[in-house]
Amino acid sequence: ETKLDIQKIRKEFPILDQKVYNKPLVYLDNAATTQKPKLVLDALEEYYTTINSNVHRGVHILSQRATEAYEVSRKKIAAFINAKHDYEVIFTKGTTDSLNLVANCFGRKFLKPGDSVLVSAMEHHSNIVPWQITCEEHGAQLKVIPILENGELDLVKLDELLDDPTLKFLSLTYVSNTLGTVNPVKEIIEKAHVKDIPVMLDVAQAIQHMPLDVQDLDVEFVAFSGHKMYGPTGIGCLYGKEEWLNKLPPYQGGGDMIKEVTFAKTIYNDLPFKFEAGTPDISGAIVLGYAVDFLEQIGIEQIQEAEHELMTYALGQLSAIPDLKFIGEAKNRTGGISFLVGNIHPFDLGEILDKQGIAVRTGHHCCQPLMGIYHIPGTVRASFAIYNTKEEIDQLAVGIEKAAAILK
Ligand code: PMP
Repeated sequence: ETKLDIQKIRKEFPILDQKVYNKPLVYLDNAATTQKPKLVLDALEEYYTTINSNVHRGVHILSQRATEAYEVSRKKIAAFINAKHDYEVIFTKGTTDSLNLVANCFGRKFLKPGDSVLVSAMEHHSNIVPWQITCEEHGAQLKVIPILENGELDLVKLDELLDDPTLKFLSLTYVSNTLGTVNPVKEIIEKAHVKDIPVMLDVAQAIQHMPLDVQDLDVEFVAFSGHKMYGPTGIGCLYGKEEWLNKLPPYQGGGDMIKEVTFAKTIYNDLPFKFEAGTPDISGAIVLGYAVDFLEQIGIEQIQEAEHELMTYALGQLSAIPDLKFIGEAKNRTGGISFLVGNIHPFDLGEILDKQGIAVRTGHHCCQPLMGIYHIPGTVRASFAIYNTKEEIDQLAVGIEKAAAILK
């Protein structure tokens, strides 16, 4: 049993203490976005009431304080993922922005007609479409690692795909937002490196649930969003190895990303500023550092352990429901559970759960190709955060049985 006091942690999240449709809110849509603790909410207010000003520009004291706080946050995030250097952490708008940055810049510099890029069948649209755009622009081809029926990657096929001499890049999710599958990324990165293939990981659904060490993984790029890790929306990060960030051309041009501009030529700024054109989401970046503080105060290992316990409990409770079928049954799973009940449409089930105060997500979860593989229109997904309780899982199970009784 976890030693964490979940009720005490819940008290840090004011939004959870409310009723919807006159029922206590049961928030199980954390893979879409997590709620924010007081630490984060207070930091946001504090920023705008005390030091709001632009960064890296002014000589005045508020600008110095904002710049200092912005850079302190970068340091916290770098330490949290064990980056070798702070300047390997670039502030972006989020996972989507980070993935687009790498797809765009890598493509412009390195992709030629006949080359190929590899993704997996369980990718979020944000790790498919940017690569399709880039491949189309440079005459390259997008290839796909298939999955097994249980929602794990087909590692035998992966070996064959890595043998392809046209392959130039591998971009893969660490954890599937739909299936909950945790991919064996360390092993995959090692294999890719044997073939000299750089790797990007989409860790949007991993960073809030388990320790992440970019040096241990030896990964070239990592993308994540603040809002899925108890931070605000509109901010996220790209981690890149120094060597690789230096090799890529800039993404956007503008203020802050330059050293010197003339009409004839521009000299780009050093890392990380080369990739941070324009006024960034200053408050978001600063407050994301507080979200990291929140995760570290509890301890990411403790979070992983408590959530594993909750996941095991949820799988037990849900599997007792007649006609409930899990979509994705990988051995190693985290974050959330996708399921269907009989031939009830996921949207109908979700709507009845909502009326009972239970927030889940229904639909394709931005993974239409994956839905195609399973021949389903979508799933119902219950996804967890550190403030979720076993009582909430019980309520979910009761809610599903009620909904099934109504809809059958
Ligand atoms: N990748 C994965 C695995 C995700 O779950 C999500 C969010 N659902 C994204 C990428 C995109 O994140 P964002 O919308 O915050 O850019």
